Amino acid sequence: MADAPASQALFDRALAVIPGGVNSPVRAFRSVGGTPRFMVSGTGPRITDADGREYVDLVGSWGPMILGHAHPDVRAAVDTAVSRGLSFGTPGEGEVALAEEIVRRVDPVERVRLVSSGTEATMSAMRLARGFTGRSKVVKFAGCYHGHVDALLASAGSGIATFALPDSAGVTAATTAEVIVLPYNDLDAVRAAFAAHPGEIAAVITEAAAANMGVVPPLPGFNAGLAEITHADGALLITDEVMTGFRASRAGMWGLDGAQEGWRPDLMTFGKVIGGGLPVGAFGGRADIMAHLAPEGPVYQAGTLSGNPIATAAGLATLRGCTDEIYAHLDATARTVGELVAAALTQAGVPNRLQRAGTLFSVFFTDAAVTDYDLARTQSTAAFAAFFHSMLRDGVYLPPSAFEAWFVSAAHDDAALERIEAALPAAARAAAA
Ligand code: PLP
Repeated sequence: MADAPASQALFDRALAVIPGGVNSPVRAFRSVGGTPRFMVSGTGPRITDADGREYVDLVGSWGPMILGHAHPDVRAAVDTAVSRGLSFGTPGEGEVALAEEIVRRVDPVERVRLVSSGTEATMSAMRLARGFTGRSKVVKFAGCYHGHVDALLASAGSGIATFALPDSAGVTAATTAEVIVLPYNDLDAVRAAFAAHPGEIAAVITEAAAANMGVVPPLPGFNAGLAEITHADGALLITDEVMTGFRASRAGMWGLDGAQEGWRPDLMTFGKVIGGGLPVGAFGGRADIMAHLAPEGPVYQAGTLSGNPIATAAGLATLRGCTDEIYAHLDATARTVGELVAAALTQAGVPNRLQRAGTLFSVFFTDAAVTDYDLARTQSTAAFAAFFHSMLRDGVYLPPSAFEAWFVSAAHDDAALERIEAALPAAARAAAA
């Protein structure tokens, strides 16, 4: 493509050796069209592609880069760790310090196990819930994405929503037979599922705020209701905070919801921010449940690179950098960007709906208040694609799908906001066309 020749050349090479030219589907620009941009560097709120074009980044590696790119403290922590060796396959202090930081911030987490991705975290939490309860069924919600765990790909969001896939090929009927998929934000449906399967459901897993069909916050009382219903039946509540953890607030979405309303999940999953850009995930929760994990208990779970010293150094430096002032900045920045986008679209006559969960937000290209996956799919993906490409041309990098959250960082400053604001009128007009 003429406007990105270096990216196009790299993409052509990639297509010859990597399926679809990418290592994670949404990166391929399939739902917005055009050539994916190959990034070569990033500093603060900006990233630069192979053609030397600079963008204000509203993806932030899909969440981890909460302090901005190449943050000096994170780089220094990583440099120090690298100078000591890359991996030992033994316990190390870094993983203890990261676990302590997570436990300190999120009250329901009494014990935590580190893994290398969000997918591993949800997969392991589900196995643990089944091992602990001796039950096999799991409830999930349509449009919630919990990584590419076979069983949890049933009606998932993110790439599955982007490509409108009902499921994934290769996931057997036997695997999903134990998974009950319900509409998000619908407590009556949850009550009905428990009434139909008393004593059979091991866990309800939910994104603490759904953010993989765009951002769909839980309706007031939804998460609290889930806790009440699951506990009344002896099942567990798993809140997936891979996206929202340490992003929606200092204590993630739970800090805005459970801490206020007085409910607690039994298990929680994390990723993204706790790795600061390197591969880290985690799951944790009640000590009596976590004691069922090997080597203490019978539920097996392991990883060659779990608790890797470089990754935990990056994660710890990132978490330590996430101070109350940073959350205040993220909150104000998310509010400003969201409102600027909504105002520009409204001005151009484009239906839009700004939705937020703490500092996480997205803009739906529809008039409807979006409370579940069916409503999320009423939006105009064509209008989003036109908007996306205009923003890209004017130096703003948005998630290349209408079904993803938008991410600001601590490094998004006035200059970054001005660049976004300047790009908006033309993008809104393109979306209206
Ligand atoms: N859970 C949620 C809520 C996510 O948003 C994601 C990824 O976007 C995952 C799990 C999977 O994490 P990973 O991509 O690190 O495997």
